[in-house]
Amino acid sequence: MPHHDSSATPRSAGPAGGPDPFAGARVCVAGLGVSGPPVARALLARGARVVVVDGRDDETTRPVAAALTEAGAEVVLGDTPLPEDCGLVVTSPGWRPDSPLLTRAAEAGIEIIGDVELAWRLKPADQVWLAITGTNGKTTTVRMLESILRADGRDALAVGNVGTPVVEAVLPDADGRVHDILAVELSSFQLHWSNSVRPHAATVLNIASDHLDWHGGLEPYARAKGRVFARGTIRVVNTADDWSVRLAEEEGDPHTPLVGLRLDTPRAGELGVVEDLLVDRAFVEQPHSSAEELATLGDVRPAAPHNVANALAAAALARSVGVAPASVRAGLVAFVPEPHRIAHVASVGGVDYVDDSKATNPHAAAASLNSYASVVWIAGGLLKGAEVDDLVAGAAGRLRGAVLIGADRERIREALAKHAPDVPVVEVEGPAADAPPERTVMDAVVAEAVALAEEGDTVLLAPAAASMDMFTNYPERGRFFAEAVHRLG
Ligand code: ADP
Repeated sequence: MPHHDSSATPRSAGPAGGPDPFAGARVCVAGLGVSGPPVARALLARGARVVVVDGRDDETTRPVAAALTEAGAEVVLGDTPLPEDCGLVVTSPGWRPDSPLLTRAAEAGIEIIGDVELAWRLKPADQVWLAITGTNGKTTTVRMLESILRADGRDALAVGNVGTPVVEAVLPDADGRVHDILAVELSSFQLHWSNSVRPHAATVLNIASDHLDWHGGLEPYARAKGRVFARGTIRVVNTADDWSVRLAEEEGDPHTPLVGLRLDTPRAGELGVVEDLLVDRAFVEQPHSSAEELATLGDVRPAAPHNVANALAAAALARSVGVAPASVRAGLVAFVPEPHRIAHVASVGGVDYVDDSKATNPHAAAASLNSYASVVWIAGGLLKGAEVDDLVAGAAGRLRGAVLIGADRERIREALAKHAPDVPVVEVEGPAADAPPERTVMDAVVAEAVALAEEGDTVLLAPAAASMDMFTNYPERGRFFAEAVHRLG
């Protein structure tokens, strides 16, 4: 496996020789949301003439627009015309491919790319990308990977949805330096709008139904994720997930190593688990006769099976650039889990309260329900078209009871009635109109959960659904839950 030279030398982010294709080019940036402003700034820094377009004209977009105008961009708010003379459109991941501006650009033969593709074209040639996609576990895994790379002394940065936008991480900072290695979290939307991105190594952690309304079905959603396996990219796959393996085989480069991950004894060419050890039989001199110990299960927090799978994926990507085994352990030990992902809130009266508000789809909720033996499950919200039958059928044996909230709770209630008819179910609609202001709907939810729970149980907020019908976002939902639990004491 190639070793990466970790000596950080200042470099220019400009292309090696030849004119900069962005200098003087007129580029349309579609969307002023999360990715738009850093994309516009990156393009301006490279001398492009930038037009930013967003259909919203309100208190959120106006100040951002003013700042970009100040920085030299042209900004159009309140309408989304395709600006004249644009040779390239860089779209926000949130914009659907059939939105009018993108449709018009496609009809006019104008190239449309996303922020990640732009970052790839802007980055210095020797910056290495290790890429992670999948339905669940991306953020956790990129953070683990960053921690492992840093424990090995590498100049690495995690980029993507949480943290630094990828376009910011490819341009030189004030000292003219660019990070050597990026641990890149990629969404299906970003991959849909990429065509030349070529990570050194990449993984699809898992595929389950999510965002199907955007992509128009599971197959196109999965295929978008499969684009992460580009020509020359080392393929790291989860052997327990059929799509992960299929995508690597069908979309990936057959001439690159295919490295399997599994939660039991690894075969030659794989990483896996032997008793309580994480073991590497892929990135070793003699995979048929030798193995390297990387870490123990106790080094992975939480040590739930799905999270051990995340740790193995991070370890494999790190090992693909020559990271030492001891650094894998050190990095996993130093890793601090993100909030609202199977976060232990408190133990009250022999009952554990766990916040997995980030379980915004059934696949994520299944992973956390599988981590506990006897659960009072708090679920519901916006299901985004996902099915819950398999989730409920699979978890039925572990459920002490269920407390349902949110717009689509009826669908979960029906699945419970079908697959777990003996499990008591309570529905909570919303806070009483005359409730004191600090009393959120979560107080009522937690009170119902307390009534259902017995000593040794876990009360688990793993809604399997998005939160926006009742809360600003999933962190708020988790915070309200934790606050309600703390009020119990
Ligand atoms: P993402 O960035 O892909 O949304 P996160 O790391 O933020 O991933 O985790 C999202 C949710 O998925 C959390 O609820 C977490 O408990 C659950 N999860 C994490 N890793 C996995 C996995 N490998 N398989 C299934 N669920 C997972």
